[in-house]
Amino acid sequence: MSLFNKGPLRNCPFCGGEPKLIKCGNHKEYLVYICSRCHESPVRLDEASVCEFGARRRWNQRTEEAEYIIKAYNRLQASTTIFTSSEGK
Ligand SMILES: [Zn+2]
Repeated sequence: MSLFNKGPLRNCPFCGGEPKLIKCGNHKEYLVYICSRCHESPVRLDEASVCEFGARRRWNQRTEEAEYIIKAYNRLQASTTIFTSSEGK
């Protein structure tokens, strides 16, 4: 068992789906993970990696960032709702 191949992969930050590895690039020479359910990816295609390990690391890194942004956005939405409702009409 290799730690490099069996490292945990985070779920999709948008829908919680499982990521899947796809090939991209002009000659299908790059690897990138996208969500198998919503087909979104927090990883830009120009950030695709040349090996599976790199693609995993990139997916986890970008997923963590996306989760952080989504949480911050949700908090902002929640506080905006409170602010709006406290205005009263
Ligand atoms: Zn998804």
